[in-house]
Amino acid sequence: MDMTEYLRRVPKVELHCHVEGTLRPETVAELAATHGIELPTDDIGTLYDYDSIYEFLETFRFVNSTVIDRADFARMAYETLEDGVRAGNLRHREMFFNPTLHTTRGVPLATVVDGLVDGIRRAEADLGVTCLLIADVYRQDSAEDTMAWLEELIELDRPEVVGLGMDAAEAPDPPEKFAAVFQRAGAAGLRRTSHACEDGPPVNITTCLDQLGCERIDHGYHILDDPDVVARCRDAEIVFTVCPTSTARVYGWPDLTTHPINAMIEAGLKVMLNSDDPTMFHTDIGKEYVDLCGQNGHSVALVRELVLNGVDGCWLPDADRDALRAEVVAELDALEADLEPA
Ligand SMILES: [Zn+2]
Repeated sequence: MDMTEYLRRVPKVELHCHVEGTLRPETVAELAATHGIELPTDDIGTLYDYDSIYEFLETFRFVNSTVIDRADFARMAYETLEDGVRAGNLRHREMFFNPTLHTTRGVPLATVVDGLVDGIRRAEADLGVTCLLIADVYRQDSAEDTMAWLEELIELDRPEVVGLGMDAAEAPDPPEKFAAVFQRAGAAGLRRTSHACEDGPPVNITTCLDQLGCERIDHGYHILDDPDVVARCRDAEIVFTVCPTSTARVYGWPDLTTHPINAMIEAGLKVMLNSDDPTMFHTDIGKEYVDLCGQNGHSVALVRELVLNGVDGCWLPDADRDALRAEVVAELDALEADLEPA
């Protein structure tokens, strides 16, 4: 087995993937036909080709307008887990969904959650992959509206929903806006993470840890601007869920050798790799490993570390996480034994 195949086949945990950014183009076409929605293009293969962030956002809105019924949400969740298993030997994922992306267009929160749970349970039965859900706060929403859906989510009490996260534009709405929301989530037993320091300052990470009770940080690239925050996160072993392809594209980093992920690894931060919005960026969890580790010539030891950082950072119950770790280690050992010397 060569390094590329090895990187594809390495067992993977993914902690940063937005279900709304995972729809297959063919599924979008079928759902649009079912619901009588006109497609923006005659060539569905070009659905996810765009020249600007505005076109991206427009496509994102369109794609999500085709997901309406409980069965649609189930299909979306099932297919993305199937894609992860096939393309990258995905073993466990903690997947974001944005409640207000759907509730603001009239889809009840219970339809969203129960549909996703249906798909997750079917994928686990068919493919052996496990998945938990994290509800994402949309930063541009008001704290009051966000608290309202959080209460509804807590009331639903679905076991797959284990956490609260936060995304969307960071600069105009820094994390302290949602401190009370995150405190409420913590009191209700939800785990917490947040997109932070993606294009905002390192103080946003400090705020997420101290005021929001976050255990993980999603992205975090600009942490490198503040050595004190780096030292704190390194010592506390905070897991950073980084996304090579999507952020290189959005921020114009020309290839993955100049991506700040490398400097974060060198700084001793606990980093693990993710696909973010895989179909929307023409990627998958296998490709993220192949591209980042391949382009940088990362060692087998470092690949193992990246994989196990994902296991350490996941929110499975302790016994399940330990079992997953043992399985992953055994599989890594076997794969490494089959790897051709470089
Ligand atoms: Zn993200």
